[in-house]
Parts: sequence; structure tokens; C-alpha cells
Amino acid sequence: MFKMTFSILCLVPMIGFCAQTTPPPKPSPPQPEPMIVEHIAGGLYFVKGGVGANTAFYVGEKDVTVFDAKMTAEAAGEMLAEIAKVTSKPVADLIITHSDLDHVNGLTGFPKTIKPIVSETTKKEMEEAFQDEKMAAYREYQFAPPFKGRTIFHTAGGESFTLIQAGPAHTGGDTVIVFPKEKAAFIGDLAFIGRDPLIHRAKGGTAAGYIASLKMMIEMDGVETYLSGHADALTKTDLQALLSTLEEKTAKVKALIAEGKTLEDVKAALLPPASPGAPPSRWPSFVEVVYLDLTEKK
Ligand SMILES: [Zn+2]
Repeated sequence: MFKMTFSILCLVPMIGFCAQTTPPPKPSPPQPEPMIVEHIAGGLYFVKGGVGANTAFYVGEKDVTVFDAKMTAEAAGEMLAEIAKVTSKPVADLIITHSDLDHVNGLTGFPKTIKPIVSETTKKEMEEAFQDEKMAAYREYQFAPPFKGRTIFHTAGGESFTLIQAGPAHTGGDTVIVFPKEKAAFIGDLAFIGRDPLIHRAKGGTAAGYIASLKMMIEMDGVETYLSGHADALTKTDLQALLSTLEEKTAKVKALIAEGKTLEDVKAALLPPASPGAPPSRWPSFVEVVYLDLTEKK
């Protein structure tokens, strides 16, 4: 009887005694999916899973180029070990799509001789992040001369890739890498599937820029496969569907702004009600970003 009374009391949150003696277990951090390597075509491979965003690598005639660095030195090491299972050729170049830590912070898992190739804007954003004392080790890496706009990058081993600075979109300087022979592109975070795209307004990312980048990627001649940091390999149809959804949302926000609605009105009208007990979203919804982009005085 005593036991029963005790357990009933424990269900009452006002009884502090129970709360102190039976603290809720700490939620364990979500475990990443195991790392897997998918052969896309020709020399191009897609690396999914592990800690940090998806990456890719290209096995050329003489050496290997890696696209994005994973999130930790350990995850980068794991990726380099996966590459070594595919080829014994050395990793000579690292191209980084943008400045987010899940694409950058594995840099310290690469030898100090690697010189990241990035757009001018991404270089500025990375250098700013590296000013943090905790990032001192990252300042030991020198950048290759950054690029601007659109350029062809030639590896020492004789391969060529087209680099396009597509941003500002997700950040201030997102890069798309095109592999003409493989009819594919590595697009960093320029396509999220099944959730709103993350747009870093603090880094200069914009909703309109995100849409413009999607259009640019869809219009790329001959590209059939798009490799994103946070999705399985995508097709033009996938990007087209994402573009339509985002254009539709933008038009609705514009109409509500024209009616003089506030951000709260717009969110109430266009976002599904939050389910009770669900944790708040980790980033602002796309409609919120559109609203702020269009109404905030710069
Ligand atoms: Zn990102």
C-alpha cells in the first residue's frame, strides 16, 4: 500500500522530493548514420553519414579531390580511411562549399599541407570563425587563392571542375561544383528535402538568393544528379518540386505583407500549428525568413 501511494505521488510534479530522487535521464545525443560511400559515376563518389554533412570525392588520374571536410577531425579521418579503401591515390585538394561547421570543422583531420579552396565570401566567413580561441588549430591552415563568380579549377593531376559561387543563398558564399563528365553537381546546403531550408541571415543568406540558386542549378545543362549535404542524391525533378514549394510560400508571404500583416499573423496563417510537447524548430521557418528579408530595413 505504501509503495502504491509513493508511486502515485511521484506522478505529481509538485512533489519536489520525487523529482530530486528520480531525475529524468539525460537525452543522449542523436547518433549519426554509419558512413557509407556511394559511387555516382566516373570518378565521383558521394559520402553519406558520419558526423557532419555529406561530402564527396573525385578520383582523378593521379590524385583525389575532396568536397567538404565533415564536422570533426575524427569524422574527416574516417572519411579519408573510406577514400583509401577506394583508391591508393593521394588526396591533393579540398574544396569547401560554405562556412558552416558541419562542412568545415573536419579540416583539422587533414594534413597541414592541404589548402582549402573556397569562394572569397566563404573565406571571409571561415577566417572570422577561426578568430575564436577554440579554433586556433584551424589558423594553421593556409587557404588557396579564393575564387569569385564562376571559374574552372584545374587539379595538378589534370582534372577540371567548374566552381560557381551561387550565394548569397544558404550563407553569403555558397559554392556549387559541377562535374560535366559525370553529369552531376555537388551543391552543399542549397537543397534541403523534407524540411525548410536553413538560411543564415546573419551570414548574408537570403530567401530570394536561395530560390535564385535553385533556378540556376535546375537550368544547368547536362546535370542530372545533385549531391546535397543533407539528402540522398537528388534529381532535377526533386529540385523543381522544392523550387515550386518555396516560390508558392514566397508569394503567400508577399500577399500577406501587402495586406499589412505582422510576422505573427504570417506565421499563424502559413505554418502548421506546433504539436504539443514538440521541441521548437532549430531554425526559423522559410516564411519567417522571407518576411524578414522583405520587411527589415537593411
Ligand atoms: Zn550549411
